[in-house]
Amino acid sequence: MRLPRLRRHTPPAPFTAPQAPPRPVLLREDALVRQLADGSVEANGWAPCPAEERARLHALHADGSRTCWTCRWTTQGDS
Ligand SMILES: [Zn+2]
Repeated sequence: MRLPRLRRHTPPAPFTAPQAPPRPVLLREDALVRQLADGSVEANGWAPCPAEERARLHALHADGSRTCWTCRWTTQGDS
């Protein structure tokens, strides 16, 4: 008795990971000290952190961006 011919197995398409969210830019302490010295970081202030969705202390940059001290997320512009 002959066995029925089996269909050739086709491997599944390789898994592709979903696009990772943008990684926060790490705020290095020496870079901050340099930026404080040259004036590109003006002050610290409370602002809403979009990454954490709560108010956090931020380093406020002269170009209007700000960097969260808690999670190091940088927000561009005044939003
Ligand atoms: Zn944050």
